[in-house]
Formats: sequence, C-alpha cells, structure tokens
Amino acid sequence: MIFKKEHELLRKTVRDFVEREMATYPDEVDEVGSLPKEVIAKLVKHKFISTIIPKEYGGAGADYVSYTIVMEEISRRCASTGTYITAASSLVALPLVNFGTKEQKEKYLRPLAEGKYIGCFGLTEPGAGSDAGAGQTIAIDKGDYYELNGRKCFITNAPICDFAIISAMTDKSKGTKGISTFIVESKWEGFSHGAHENKMGIRGTETSDIILENVRVPKENLLGKVGQGFKIMLNTLDYGRIGVAAQALGVAQGALDEAIKYVKERVQFNKPLAKFQNTQFTIADMATKVQAARLLVYDAAEKKDNGQVPGLESAMAKYYAAEIANEVAYKALQLHGGYGFIKDYPIERIYRDARILSIYEGTSQVQQMVIAGHVIK
Ligand SMILES: Cc1cc2nc3c(=O)[nH]c(=O)nc-3n(C[C@H](O)[C@H](O)[C@H](O)COP(=O)(O)OP(=O)(O)OC[C@H]3O[C@@H](n4cnc5c(N)ncnc54)[C@H](O)[C@@H]3O)c2cc1C
Repeated sequence: MIFKKEHELLRKTVRDFVEREMATYPDEVDEVGSLPKEVIAKLVKHKFISTIIPKEYGGAGADYVSYTIVMEEISRRCASTGTYITAASSLVALPLVNFGTKEQKEKYLRPLAEGKYIGCFGLTEPGAGSDAGAGQTIAIDKGDYYELNGRKCFITNAPICDFAIISAMTDKSKGTKGISTFIVESKWEGFSHGAHENKMGIRGTETSDIILENVRVPKENLLGKVGQGFKIMLNTLDYGRIGVAAQALGVAQGALDEAIKYVKERVQFNKPLAKFQNTQFTIADMATKVQAARLLVYDAAEKKDNGQVPGLESAMAKYYAAEIANEVAYKALQLHGGYGFIKDYPIERIYRDARILSIYEGTSQVQQMVIAGHVIK
C-alpha cells in the first residue's frame, strides 16, 4: 500500500501518542476493568474518537483510511482501547451521521465528538445474536412518545453510557421491516443496566445488559423512519466492520511484534530462537498473513472513501483479519514457550483479547454468510 503524506503523518502522530501515553497501560486496564478517564479525555482531544464525525459537529472530519490507521495503531498496543473507539465511532457516530436529523446530531453527535457524552449501540438480545432481526424489544406508539420494553445484552459501554442507540419492534407483523431505531438516554426512568460482564479479554471495556422498563422515548428520538431499523443496522455494520477489521489487524501486528522481540532475545541450544528455521518460517507465515489482512482492510476503507458500499470487502476484511489475529496470537504465544503463559509477558493478554474479534460485530460464520451472498449469485 502506498499511503498519502497526510496518512503517513497521521500514523506517526498516533504511534507517538501510543508510545507516550500507553506504555504499561494495556496491562493496567486489563487488571482494573475500565479505561482511565484521563486517557479517554486525551483520545477525545486528539480526535481519535471522532475521526469520522464531520467537522461541523466537532469531529475530525477525516476519511476511512485515517480511521483505519487510528484503529490499527491503537489496537496494536491495546485492544480494549480499540474497542472503545470503534464502539463510539462505527456503532454510535455512524448511524447518527447517516440517519440523524440536524437536531439529533446537535444533541447527541456533537457531545459524543467533544467527549461530553458516551454512547452505546444496543442491538443484541439474549435470543437474538447472529439472528439480529429476531429481537423481542418492543416500542409501542403512545401518541406523544414511544414506550420501550425489553432487554439487550453484551452491550459495550452500557454501564457508562449517556445514551444508547436501541433497535426495537414497532410492528411485529412486518418482520424485519417492523423494526425501528431509537436514541434512548440512560438517565430516563426505566433505563438500567446489568452487572459488568467478567470477560476473558478486552477487559478494559465495560460490557453489560441494558434493561428497558416502560421507558418513555419522545417522538423526536426516533432515528430514521419507522420501520427503517433493520436497514440502519445493516448499513451501520457494513461500514462499521471496517473498524473491527482494523482493530484485528492491529492486534495481529501487536502479537507479531511481541514474537519478533522475544525470539531475538531468548537463547536455547546456544542460539537465539530466531536462528532456528522453524522460528523463521513461523514468523514469515505470520508476517505474510498480517500483510494480507492489511491489504484487505485498507482496500475496504479506500472503497468507502471512493463512495462505494464495501459490503463484501468489509466482510472479507473483518473475517480474515479476525481469524488471522487469533492464529498469529496463538503462534506468538507458542514461540514464547512457558513464558507466554505467564502474565509477565503481554502476549498472554493479547491472546485473550484476540478471541473476541471473530465473535462480535458478526461472527466469522456471519461474515462467511455475507461473503457467500455476494459471490454466489
Ligand atoms: C465483549 C462483547 C461486546 C459486544 N458488544 C456489543 C455491542 O456493543 N452491541 C451489540 O449490539 N452487541 C454486542 N455484542 C454482541 C455480539 O455482536 C454477539 O455476541 C454476536 O453477534 C454473536 O451473537 P451470539 O453471542 O448470540 O451468538 P449466536 O448467534 O448464538 O452464535 C453461536 C454460534 O453459532 C453460529 N451461528 C449462528 N447462526 C448461524 C448460521 N446461520 N449459520 C452458521 N453458524 C451460525 C455463530 O457463528 C456462533 O459460532 C458484544 C459481544 C461481546 C461478547
């Protein structure tokens, strides 16, 4: 890939930020279970949270290649921070940018860009994961407002959110055409969240249920039109996947970095591990797959910047980058031997963090379904 000068400059800026602000921090957030407010404030200040939010609403107004660079470089050091950024950007900002009214953008998108609000995206339910159209959350039109009842699960940032983008059924008889999307503030009566999930990886992000009990949502908080909810979800995920794909690429590169560092230092049989051909071939295989993922991810981002809808490309990028992030993290840990299993080395955390990548924002199997849908006609 040949990057424009502005993109190379951005990459350097993000790398410097990571070196300066995030040295020992991934292990701390993994231990504590949340991101420090000061770091979130700095991410906001550098507009790393708001890369794709238009300038007129306080964002960086940058392109998707820039967003991908931010996601790759931050996730290379800390996958939890990557999740925080992609949840805010891809899942919350994106539907507001694409479907929000001017008033909704002023009220929710601007404070999101300025770090005054934290948002979350509530789609998944206990009975509706991959089958996202099967949600049971209901919105009843009560004249002046909608009344929402239901339960969402596994929602990133739910315990700390100021508002949530919630999909709910407005007309059951119409199936997926009966789903609508709402902006629901967490301070409204009837909105609560469940316990912070005790997760295997990305432990620096906060994940919980959202419980909605007779929540009164004003009519002006309907996002898009009635019945447009499924379309909003598909649109959000088609573009949003680029963020997770870039996160997976960063995690894979981070695992490769650790492996290369370790095999040059560790001596067995009087040689550094890097001198064994098996090590070299393993590293060569890992590096090639990381680069293949990089080309897929930036291709999807470039297509989006050129005005195309990269539904196929973003699914391929997300699928491949997530799978190889797991494979590369596995091999990197193997190259660490017993030390890889001990928390003193970052590879143990990276290995755990990588595991979510092939599950959320559409499992690898869902990506395969999307890809097959495009290529088998
Ligand atoms: C840490 C974390 C953060 C998350 N953040 C959010 C968030 O912010 N907002 C949100 O809305 N959701 C979020 N999710 C939910 C996530 O997107 C879902 O967990 C995911 O889509 C899978 O759904 P499920 O867990 O119900 O698995 P299921 O859909 O039950 O899948 C179980 C298995 O069956 C497979 N499968 C299912 N259907 C098919 C099929 N038709 N063909 C072949 N295989 C199939 C799956 O690939 C998987 O391997 C998060 C989840 C986690 C764990």
